[in-house]
Amino acid sequence: MTTASEIRLASRPEGWPTLANFSIVDTELPVPGEGELLVRNLVFSLDPYMRGRMNDAKSYVAPYEVGKVMDGGAMGEVVESNSDSFQPGDMVLHFKGWRSHGIVPAGQAARVDPEAAPLTTYLGVLGMPGLTAYAGLVRVAEFKEGDTVFVSGAAGAVGSVVGQLARLKGAKRVIGSAGSEAKVKHLIDDLGFDAAFNYKDGPVAAQLAEAAPDGIDVYFDNVGGEHLEAAIAAANLNGRIAICGMISQYNAAEPPPGPRNLIRMIQQRLTMRGFLVGDHNDLQPRFLAEVAPLVKEGKLRYEETIVDGLANAPQAFLDLLAGGNTGKMLVRL
Ligand code: NAP
Repeated sequence: MTTASEIRLASRPEGWPTLANFSIVDTELPVPGEGELLVRNLVFSLDPYMRGRMNDAKSYVAPYEVGKVMDGGAMGEVVESNSDSFQPGDMVLHFKGWRSHGIVPAGQAARVDPEAAPLTTYLGVLGMPGLTAYAGLVRVAEFKEGDTVFVSGAAGAVGSVVGQLARLKGAKRVIGSAGSEAKVKHLIDDLGFDAAFNYKDGPVAAQLAEAAPDGIDVYFDNVGGEHLEAAIAAANLNGRIAICGMISQYNAAEPPPGPRNLIRMIQQRLTMRGFLVGDHNDLQPRFLAEVAPLVKEGKLRYEETIVDGLANAPQAFLDLLAGGNTGKMLVRL
């Protein structure tokens, strides 16, 4: 028997979650059964989509259950293996996050090479968020050299990869929005964005018009709401909008009104398409072949905001929703 600590959903939030919606509990894990692994987690991922799973709403992924452990992407070390495919000491990417240890079916674990890249990058720039950025920009938004690209949530895990990839792939101009002066400075000074603005400084439409005097060809939406309406207003002929996320609405008790200017979809022959990263797993080999060397050579930079200790995970999640992270938000154990 192994004693594990885990974070459970204590209650469902209404609007913004609070620490009272989470509990931390010690539990005894059984020995791993046939084909199972006991994994000790080293680091796990906090992601905005988890907010949706705290609601009792039908979606593309099942809601968390009240009183049960939460889950999500995690990286850990195999402690005991009851599978021929894994040995103790193997590092594995799996889905039993939000806990110190987990019993993981071998079929749901992927061995990673800790020498090839830092372990944390498999949850960030070279993991799900990186693939989201790649698939959204290259396939969904059909990015072409010479495009002017606008990305919201630009200092986050997904947005920072979108902007840098667009820059490296020959965008005419790359514009980002983020929620603080420090993030705006980081986008321009460290990540090579041509222009950036703080969406809290004033209306997004006016700031975007100033940053993109010739309009935009691609909008990568992480935020929704006012950002989406502003991007539609700034879109050039045949513009493409990839709808990746709408974090400005995740804590809204009532759905906000939609963009008021959808008539521009006709006038400008715009395409707007939502996507889920899980539908683009076929791009994984191409994504890694292209992006891993860029990361290794330092041409594509990444930030991580790492919080230590399982007990601090709920606060770190609240901070993620409020913009407390730059780059990927992770919990290290
Ligand atoms: P992230 O950007 O690293 O973190 C979330 C960021 O959202 C915060 O740091 C905050 O930054 C920003 N934010 C919070 N409230 C906001 C608001 N009202 N208006 C504008 N910005 C706000 O998270 P991520 O993992 O990279 O995810 C980014 C987006 O992609 C999310 O919408 C997520 O749901 C989505 N996503 C979608 C897929 C998919 O398959 N479709 C996959 C992964 C992620 P500021 O300080 O800049 O406000």
